[in-house]
Amino acid sequence: MHIRTRFAPSPTGFIHLGNLRSALYPWAFARRNKGDFILRIEDTDLERSTQEAVDVIIEGMSWLGLDLDEGPIYQMQRIDRYREVVKQMLDKGLAYPCYMSEEDLNKLRDEQMSNKQKPRYNCMWRPEPGKTLPPVPEGVLPVIRFKNPIGGSVVWDDAVKGRIEISNEELDDLVIARPDGTPTYNFCVVVDDLDMKITHVIRGDDHVNNTPRQINIMKALGGETPVYAHLPTVLNDSGEKMSKRNGAMSVRDYQKAGYLPEAILNYLARLGWSHGDAEVFTKEQFVDWFDLDSLGRSPAQHNPEKLLWLNHQYIQNADPVKLAQATEPFAHELGIDTQKGVDFVQVVDLLKGRANTLIEIAEGAKLFYLPAPNFTAQQIAENIPENIVPALKDLILAIQNAEPNKEGYSAAFKRVLASHQLKMPALAMPVRYALFATTQTPAIDSVLVVLGKDEAVERLSKVVQ
Ligand code: GLU
Repeated sequence: MHIRTRFAPSPTGFIHLGNLRSALYPWAFARRNKGDFILRIEDTDLERSTQEAVDVIIEGMSWLGLDLDEGPIYQMQRIDRYREVVKQMLDKGLAYPCYMSEEDLNKLRDEQMSNKQKPRYNCMWRPEPGKTLPPVPEGVLPVIRFKNPIGGSVVWDDAVKGRIEISNEELDDLVIARPDGTPTYNFCVVVDDLDMKITHVIRGDDHVNNTPRQINIMKALGGETPVYAHLPTVLNDSGEKMSKRNGAMSVRDYQKAGYLPEAILNYLARLGWSHGDAEVFTKEQFVDWFDLDSLGRSPAQHNPEKLLWLNHQYIQNADPVKLAQATEPFAHELGIDTQKGVDFVQVVDLLKGRANTLIEIAEGAKLFYLPAPNFTAQQIAENIPENIVPALKDLILAIQNAEPNKEGYSAAFKRVLASHQLKMPALAMPVRYALFATTQTPAIDSVLVVLGKDEAVERLSKVVQ
């Protein structure tokens, strides 16, 4: 079987991480099985769909590297096709026009509710052999209803939830086209899944209720039903359904906050799927390991700390040049000219060990791009203790003669500390101050490597004159 999966978002608002997880799993399943992955934009809700949401989806997917084999295919561009299928169904007697007015439908529902019955359409306009239908009212445009099977039930083996059986008694004759001819949601999904030859529908479990209706229409059209895998919801860190209202961040927000796409992908992969106790893995490993059997059955909970931890792991292990490229835009935002002065790749490499985000690296990098500090005599007196000055003078000489690497500068420090019987902080603090007017810097020997011998010596000499 040639596997074909799809991600079929409705671009009706805010796209959070949980939404993108519904793209990641079908993508991974297609890649694992050398199949095709299709993006279908379900934009038939004209009032709520926006181009902005479509852009966020497409950008987010490409940022994570979820490449497409087909699409984006917009449902609004397929309206003629849906109308064509409605017509075919009418011709074959699989669907019928229903002229019951909105008003009568409401009346029927109220009656049923007051009799404690489940509200449902009474099949008044459903043609049956030997049944006489009411006279067609004049000037009323009908809806088109699907002739749902009577009796029996719809059964499917959900790849996540197991066997699900829904009695046809529970299912109304679904409206597939509105009076103005526009097709309805569940119907478009079926036509698309059939036309696109989708073999595996992997989607959120908020669609479980739609599935029996879709399967019935699919069967009526002579199509084969795909495998369904309904993913449990993603809850936020307080256990509520993730949404913008309760503070979910959009995919773009994570990008702007300095997360690496590799970390997000790894994080999303684990949000409802597992492979033994693997927590950190590459995209290739994920694809290699992905199967529907290992999808979680209970809701996944978003854990911002874990995501931050993963981001830190990816930052630490990133290739320095690539990491510098990824950090550059954040540095530019802070006004750093990465082309001037010290080598940006070295700076990033030095700072990555303690950083959780690219923003933190950029913040740390500022230190190396500020102009050399200019001190007043009073500042020097307050921050460079008199008794340290001889050691500082020796240190300047030792640095001048040192190998210009971490080991060389570290040895220089050790020699000076030993000969002046000082502890590291007593010397390192004034050195940091002299170099940057702050006492917070990464390891001093590494800082010297990045700043460069000449610049360091020049800055240190200024405070001992
Ligand atoms: N458009 C639906 C949504 O955004 C998904 C439909 C489907 O995957 O079948 O929730």
